[in-house]
Amino acid sequence: MQPVVIAIDGPAGAGKSTIAKALARDLGIAYLDTGAMYRGVTFAVLRKGLSATDVDAVGRVAQSVVFVQTADTLEVDNVDATAAIRTSEIDAAVSHIAANSVVRDEMRLRQRQWIADHNGGVVEGRDIGSVVFPDATLKVYLVATPLVRAERRVAQHGGDVAEIARAIAERDERDSTRADSPLRQTPDAVVVDTSNRNVDQIVTDIRTLLTLRLKSS
Ligand code: C5P
Repeated sequence: MQPVVIAIDGPAGAGKSTIAKALARDLGIAYLDTGAMYRGVTFAVLRKGLSATDVDAVGRVAQSVVFVQTADTLEVDNVDATAAIRTSEIDAAVSHIAANSVVRDEMRLRQRQWIADHNGGVVEGRDIGSVVFPDATLKVYLVATPLVRAERRVAQHGGDVAEIARAIAERDERDSTRADSPLRQTPDAVVVDTSNRNVDQIVTDIRTLLTLRLKSS
Protein backbone atom coordinates (compact mmCIF):
# COMPACT_ATOMS: atom_id res chain seq x y z
CA MET A 1 0.00 0.00 0.00
CA GLN A 2 1.15 3.55 -0.77
CA PRO A 3 2.05 5.62 2.33
CA VAL A 4 -0.75 7.89 3.53
CA VAL A 5 0.02 11.55 2.81
CA ILE A 6 -2.36 14.26 3.98
CA ALA A 7 -1.74 17.70 2.47
CA ILE A 8 -2.92 20.68 4.54
CA ASP A 9 -2.64 23.96 2.64
CA GLY A 10 -4.05 27.44 3.12
CA PRO A 11 -3.17 31.06 3.88
CA ALA A 12 -1.41 32.38 7.00
CA GLY A 13 -3.35 31.96 10.23
CA ALA A 14 -5.97 29.56 8.81
CA GLY A 15 -5.10 27.06 11.56
CA LYS A 16 -2.84 24.74 9.54
CA SER A 17 -0.26 23.98 12.25
CA THR A 18 -2.79 23.38 15.02
CA ILE A 19 -4.96 21.12 12.87
CA ALA A 20 -2.11 19.30 11.14
CA LYS A 21 -0.33 18.56 14.42
CA ALA A 22 -3.51 17.35 16.16
CA LEU A 23 -4.42 15.21 13.15
CA ALA A 24 -0.97 13.63 12.96
CA ARG A 25 -1.02 12.87 16.68
CA ASP A 26 -4.50 11.36 16.37
CA LEU A 27 -3.52 9.17 13.43
CA GLY A 28 -0.13 8.25 14.91
CA ILE A 29 1.75 9.45 11.84
CA ALA A 30 4.52 12.00 11.30
CA TYR A 31 3.99 15.76 10.90
CA LEU A 32 6.01 18.13 8.73
CA ASP A 33 5.75 21.94 8.87
CA THR A 34 7.12 23.11 5.51
CA GLY A 35 6.60 26.77 6.46
CA ALA A 36 9.22 26.26 9.18
CA MET A 37 11.66 25.16 6.47
CA TYR A 38 11.19 28.38 4.45
CA ARG A 39 11.47 30.31 7.71
CA GLY A 40 14.67 28.37 8.49
CA VAL A 41 16.23 29.35 5.14
CA THR A 42 15.24 32.98 5.83
CA PHE A 43 16.86 32.78 9.28
CA ALA A 44 20.10 31.44 7.74
CA VAL A 45 20.10 34.14 5.04
CA LEU A 46 19.60 37.01 7.51
CA ARG A 47 22.15 35.56 9.93
CA LYS A 48 24.77 35.59 7.19
CA GLY A 49 23.93 39.24 6.53
CA LEU A 50 22.72 38.49 3.00
CA SER A 51 19.88 40.29 1.29
CA ALA A 52 16.67 38.33 0.62
CA THR A 53 16.78 39.71 -2.92
CA ASP A 54 20.24 38.27 -3.70
CA VAL A 55 18.79 35.36 -5.69
CA ASP A 56 22.02 33.40 -6.27
CA ALA A 57 23.38 33.72 -2.72
CA VAL A 58 19.99 32.82 -1.22
CA GLY A 59 19.79 29.77 -3.49
CA ARG A 60 23.22 28.62 -2.31
CA VAL A 61 22.20 29.02 1.34
CA ALA A 62 19.09 26.87 0.75
CA GLN A 63 21.16 24.12 -0.85
CA SER A 64 23.66 23.94 1.99
CA VAL A 65 21.62 24.74 5.12
CA VAL A 66 21.36 21.89 7.66
CA PHE A 67 18.04 21.50 9.47
CA VAL A 68 17.24 19.33 12.44
CA GLN A 69 13.46 19.51 12.61
CA THR A 70 10.88 18.05 14.98
CA ALA A 71 7.13 18.78 15.25
CA ASP A 72 7.86 21.69 17.58
CA THR A 73 11.48 22.72 17.09
CA LEU A 74 13.94 23.70 14.37
CA GLU A 75 17.73 23.82 14.49
CA VAL A 76 19.40 25.69 11.65
CA ASP A 77 23.11 24.94 11.18
CA ASN A 78 23.34 23.78 14.81
CA VAL A 79 21.58 26.87 16.21
CA ASP A 80 18.19 26.54 17.90
CA ALA A 81 15.98 28.77 15.75
CA THR A 82 12.60 27.64 17.14
CA ALA A 83 11.63 31.04 18.55
CA ALA A 84 13.66 33.17 16.13
CA ILE A 85 11.82 31.91 13.03
CA ARG A 86 8.50 33.26 14.40
CA THR A 87 9.56 36.92 14.71
CA SER A 88 8.02 39.74 12.65
CA GLU A 89 11.41 40.20 10.92
CA ILE A 90 11.19 36.66 9.51
CA ASP A 91 7.46 37.10 8.76
CA ALA A 92 8.32 40.11 6.60
CA ALA A 93 11.17 38.44 4.66
CA VAL A 94 10.05 34.82 4.28
CA SER A 95 7.69 35.20 1.31
CA HIS A 96 10.50 36.90 -0.68
CA ILE A 97 12.83 33.99 0.03
CA ALA A 98 10.03 31.50 -0.75
CA ALA A 99 9.58 33.00 -4.23
CA ASN A 100 13.13 31.92 -5.18
CA SER A 101 12.94 28.83 -7.45
CA VAL A 102 16.29 27.41 -6.33
CA VAL A 103 15.03 27.55 -2.74
CA ARG A 104 11.73 25.91 -3.70
CA ASP A 105 13.39 23.13 -5.73
CA GLU A 106 15.63 22.29 -2.79
CA MET A 107 12.83 22.38 -0.18
CA ARG A 108 10.57 20.25 -2.41
CA LEU A 109 13.30 17.59 -2.70
CA ARG A 110 13.80 17.57 1.06
CA GLN A 111 10.04 17.36 1.72
CA ARG A 112 9.61 14.37 -0.60
CA GLN A 113 12.62 12.66 0.95
CA TRP A 114 11.24 13.34 4.41
CA ILE A 115 7.91 11.67 3.52
CA ALA A 116 9.74 8.70 2.02
CA ASP A 117 11.85 8.36 5.20
CA HIS A 118 8.79 8.57 7.49
CA ASN A 119 6.55 6.39 5.35
CA GLY A 120 3.93 9.13 4.94
CA GLY A 121 2.60 11.85 7.20
CA VAL A 122 0.62 15.06 7.54
CA VAL A 123 2.35 17.86 5.61
CA GLU A 124 1.30 21.49 5.91
CA GLY A 125 2.24 24.40 3.66
CA ARG A 126 1.12 26.35 0.60
CA ASP A 127 1.92 24.08 -2.37
CA ILE A 128 1.68 20.63 -0.83
CA GLY A 129 -1.45 19.42 -2.63
CA SER A 130 -0.74 21.38 -5.81
CA VAL A 131 2.96 20.66 -6.40
CA VAL A 132 4.85 18.69 -3.74
CA PHE A 133 2.37 15.80 -3.38
CA PRO A 134 -0.19 16.11 -6.21
CA ASP A 135 -1.18 12.46 -5.54
CA ALA A 136 -1.71 12.95 -1.79
CA THR A 137 -4.24 10.59 -0.21
CA LEU A 138 -6.28 13.56 1.02
CA LYS A 139 -5.95 17.30 0.34
CA VAL A 140 -7.42 19.80 2.75
CA TYR A 141 -7.49 23.54 2.11
CA LEU A 142 -8.06 25.49 5.32
CA VAL A 143 -9.57 28.97 5.33
CA ALA A 144 -10.73 31.45 8.01
CA THR A 145 -11.91 35.05 7.98
CA PRO A 146 -9.16 37.73 7.92
CA LEU A 147 -10.18 38.95 11.39
CA VAL A 148 -10.01 35.47 12.93
CA ARG A 149 -6.63 34.86 11.28
CA ALA A 150 -5.19 38.12 12.62
CA GLU A 151 -6.60 37.51 16.10
CA ARG A 152 -5.01 34.06 16.21
CA ARG A 153 -1.59 35.49 15.38
CA VAL A 154 -2.00 38.18 18.04
CA ALA A 155 -2.98 35.53 20.61
CA GLN A 156 0.18 33.55 19.72
CA HIS A 157 2.75 36.29 19.31
CA GLY A 158 1.15 39.58 20.47
CA GLY A 159 0.91 42.80 18.45
CA ASP A 160 -1.81 44.99 17.07
CA VAL A 161 -4.69 43.25 15.25
CA ALA A 162 -4.99 45.80 12.41
CA GLU A 163 -1.22 45.82 11.81
CA ILE A 164 -0.99 42.01 11.86
CA ALA A 165 -3.99 41.76 9.51
CA ARG A 166 -2.17 44.05 7.07
CA ALA A 167 1.07 42.03 7.30
CA ILE A 168 -0.84 38.76 6.74
CA ALA A 169 -2.67 40.20 3.72
CA GLU A 170 0.65 41.31 2.17
CA ARG A 171 2.25 37.90 2.73
CA ASP A 172 -0.81 36.09 1.31
CA GLU A 173 -0.72 38.37 -1.74
CA ARG A 174 2.97 37.56 -2.37
CA ASP A 175 2.41 33.84 -1.74
CA SER A 176 -0.56 33.65 -4.14
CA THR A 177 0.90 35.72 -6.97
CA ARG A 178 4.46 34.35 -7.22
CA ALA A 179 5.34 32.53 -10.45
CA ASP A 180 6.67 29.33 -8.85
CA SER A 181 4.07 27.16 -7.07
CA PRO A 182 1.79 29.91 -5.75
CA LEU A 183 -0.69 29.29 -2.96
CA ARG A 184 -3.85 27.96 -4.59
CA GLN A 185 -6.72 25.67 -3.86
CA THR A 186 -6.71 22.60 -6.12
CA PRO A 187 -10.06 21.34 -7.47
CA ASP A 188 -9.67 18.04 -5.57
CA ALA A 189 -9.03 19.69 -2.17
CA VAL A 190 -11.70 19.72 0.52
CA VAL A 191 -12.18 23.26 1.82
CA VAL A 192 -12.62 23.55 5.58
CA ASP A 193 -13.47 26.86 7.25
CA THR A 194 -11.88 26.91 10.71
CA SER A 195 -13.31 30.30 11.78
CA ASN A 196 -16.04 29.08 14.11
CA ARG A 197 -15.22 25.45 14.88
CA ASN A 198 -12.96 23.86 17.43
CA VAL A 199 -9.91 21.72 16.74
CA ASP A 200 -11.54 18.43 17.81
CA GLN A 201 -14.52 18.91 15.46
CA ILE A 202 -12.26 19.72 12.53
CA VAL A 203 -9.90 16.80 13.20
CA THR A 204 -12.89 14.43 13.47
CA ASP A 205 -14.25 15.69 10.13
CA ILE A 206 -10.88 15.25 8.42
CA ARG A 207 -10.55 11.73 9.84
CA THR A 208 -13.99 10.88 8.42
CA LEU A 209 -12.95 12.22 5.01
CA LEU A 210 -9.77 10.17 5.17
CA THR A 211 -11.64 6.98 6.04
CA LEU A 212 -14.00 7.52 3.09
CA ARG A 213 -11.07 8.25 0.77
CA LEU A 214 -9.21 5.11 1.85
CA LYS A 215 -12.35 2.95 1.42
CA SER A 216 -12.93 4.23 -2.09
CA SER A 217 -9.33 3.76 -3.24
O1 C5P B 1 3.14 28.44 7.20
P1 C5P B 1 4.00 29.63 7.53
O2 C5P B 1 3.21 30.87 7.74
O3 C5P B 1 4.95 29.36 8.65
O4 C5P B 1 4.88 29.84 6.21
C1 C5P B 1 5.80 30.90 6.12
C2 C5P B 1 6.01 31.26 4.66
O5 C5P B 1 6.72 30.20 4.01
C3 C5P B 1 4.77 31.49 3.82
O6 C5P B 1 4.25 32.80 3.93
C4 C5P B 1 5.30 31.21 2.41
O7 C5P B 1 5.95 32.35 1.90
C5 C5P B 1 6.33 30.13 2.65
N1 C5P B 1 5.84 28.78 2.36
C6 C5P B 1 5.80 28.38 1.05
N2 C5P B 1 5.47 27.10 0.73
C7 C5P B 1 5.15 26.22 1.69
C8 C5P B 1 5.14 26.62 3.04
C9 C5P B 1 5.47 27.93 3.35
O8 C5P B 1 6.08 29.17 0.15
N3 C5P B 1 4.85 24.96 1.36
